[in-house]
Order: sequence, then C-alpha cells, then structure tokens
Amino acid sequence: MLDADFFRRWMTAAAASVDRAADRLTELDSPIGDADHGSNLRRGFTAVRAALEEESPDTPGAVLTLAGRRLVSTVGGASGPLYGMLLRRTGKALGDAAEVSEEQFAGALRVGVDAVRALGGAAPGDKTMIDALAPAVDALGDSFAAARSAALAGAEATTPLRARKGRASYLGERSVGHQDPGAASAALLVAALAEVAGE
Ligand code: ADP
Ligand code: MG
Ligand code: MG
Repeated sequence: MLDADFFRRWMTAAAASVDRAADRLTELDSPIGDADHGSNLRRGFTAVRAALEEESPDTPGAVLTLAGRRLVSTVGGASGPLYGMLLRRTGKALGDAAEVSEEQFAGALRVGVDAVRALGGAAPGDKTMIDALAPAVDALGDSFAAARSAALAGAEATTPLRARKGRASYLGERSVGHQDPGAASAALLVAALAEVAGE
C-alpha cells in the first residue's frame, strides 16, 4: 500500500530530478519554445517541496492536491496548469484514504491524465507531455519500472513528430527533429515514481 509519505517522497524526488535536469529541459525548450521549461518547473517544484514541509498533508490525495495547486500558482507557463491539473485530479480521485493500492493509484493517475488531455486538447502523437504520460499510465498496471520505460520511450519518440499543440506548434514542420521538453519532464516525473518505489 502507498501512504502519504510515499507521495511526499515522490514529489521530493521529482523536485530533485527537475533541479538536476533544469538546464537540459530549458535547452530542449530553446529550438521549439521559449527556453523556460526547466526554470518554470524548477520554480514550481521548489515551491511544492516547501508547501509539503509547511503543511504536512496526511493522505495521498491531500499531498497530490496541494502539490498540484502549488504548481498552478507558481508556474506561469503552459506546463503549470497542465501538471497542476494532473496532480490535483489524481489527488482528488484518490479521495481521503490514508493508504491506496498501486491499482487504485494507477486508476487515479488515468483520471489525471485524461483531465490534462481535456484541458490541453492534446492526444498521443501531438508532441506534448501526453506522449510520455499516456503510455506510462497504460504500463503502470504492470509495474512502476514498466511505466518509467514507457514514459522514456514515449518522450524519445516525440523527436520526429510535428507539434500540434502548444508553443512548438507555431513552428509547424520546423518542430520536427527536436524532443518535446514537456514529454522529457513527464518522463522524469515517472522515473521519480519508480525511484521511490525502489524499482
Ligand atoms: P510555455 O510553452 O508556456 O513556455 P513550458 O515551456 O513550461 O510552457 O511547457 C511547454 C510544454 O508544455 C510543452 O513541451 C508540452 O509538452 C506542454 N504543452 C504545451 N501545450 C500543451 C497542451 N495543449 N497539451 C498538453 N501539453 C502541452
Ligand atoms: Mg516554454
Ligand atoms: Mg513560457
């Protein structure tokens, strides 16, 4: 079973990973964006870490809901509301249980990913974070490690795609040949999950 501490450790590991990868994420956002994805997420996850320390929410749902709210309020790019939606909706779907099963979490994360798809209008293949998140949630029924591999493969597979959503879509054909920064960061978040699960 997964308790509030597991989800707190997930957010802390995600913050550390975003911090380490911030320069790379911003570099990915240079050719097909506005070179701020790494700094956006670093600011957001630093605030998430601080919020979790200040408020110490005591259920899985409350941890993710607080994290999502904090991302929305601190990240001023497209990724803030989208990742905020992901975590808030996933948290809401977990309800107020003190512990959740991996299966319940997989179901809740699917609700969160569907909410991101509804908010941003992106489908798999549109060269967005959805290209990493959708395969990850499909693989989560198997294991956290399988979800990590699926997210990474999905992120890498965005390179030859033409962007159909977000800032990169303004470039049309010129978006081809670059990995999507949001898909890369989504793969980091899923990898952080596998890390705290010990997989
Ligand atoms: P901004 O583009 O506002 O500067 P960021 O650079 O922080 O925001 O985030 C860009 C990432 O957000 C993209 O790489 C993409 O993965 C994701 N993104 C942008 N628009 C959408 C959308 N409509 N649906 C899903 N993901 C999106
Ligand atoms: Mg950007
Ligand atoms: Mg921006």
